[in-house]
Amino acid sequence: MSTVTDRPLAILGGTFDPVHLGHLRVAWEAAEFLGADVHLMPANVPPHRAQPVASAAQRVAILRAALQGQERLILDQRELRREGPSYTVDTLVALRKEIGATRPVVLLVGADAFSGLPSWHRWRELFDLAHIGVLTRAGHEIIESPELSGQIGTRRTNSPAQLRQSANGAVIEIRVSALEISATQIRHELAAGREPRYLVPAGVLAEPELLAPYRR
Ligand code: ATP
Repeated sequence: MSTVTDRPLAILGGTFDPVHLGHLRVAWEAAEFLGADVHLMPANVPPHRAQPVASAAQRVAILRAALQGQERLILDQRELRREGPSYTVDTLVALRKEIGATRPVVLLVGADAFSGLPSWHRWRELFDLAHIGVLTRAGHEIIESPELSGQIGTRRTNSPAQLRQSANGAVIEIRVSALEISATQIRHELAAGREPRYLVPAGVLAEPELLAPYRR
């Protein structure tokens, strides 16, 4: 059993090509709601998927600039340090080896991704390693297959305090602001020679070379 003094560690994975205010606002709201630190964890993209425009090092540099001036959202490069793409279950096993079994860990997933959870590698084991925080936005409701419902029926909680009482195994819905911002939109703006002001943090725009990979 964990103790109530264990501050949850939440994880928001993504390509972050580039990170934008939609990501950061969601991560911040999750941090506030859960009383957690949120690790932003950029992913290696599998070879069969469209590759990010920016390299891992470039995406990391943008994240660093974006996260300046606050301490609750933390860059976590563990997936980039491993060769090739990582299964989430392997990432969580590695994280548990590092932080131990008792600290609450919350895997943050969008409602769409959560609906597809039964297709993830060794998905049932995820609940032995972490809680799952489902980020819901208006218009992105959770669609549950019977397989998913069967697994999460008794795991649901509405209480962040309850989540802090155990290390893993619960599912909590986290209602977040719907900021209609995507990395795709930002890449298009930059490729068209426009500046994505108010879509990415000012600290990122202050260093124009950071977004150079996306300019034509
Ligand atoms: P792209 O446009 O390249 O597909 P993206 O903006 O969706 O990228 P990702 O890096 O794929 O960014 O997203 C990482 C995580 O952040 C995902 O869980 C995704 O659902 C979530 N996310 C992305 N954009 C938003 C947003 N505007 N509001 C809330 N969550 C978001």
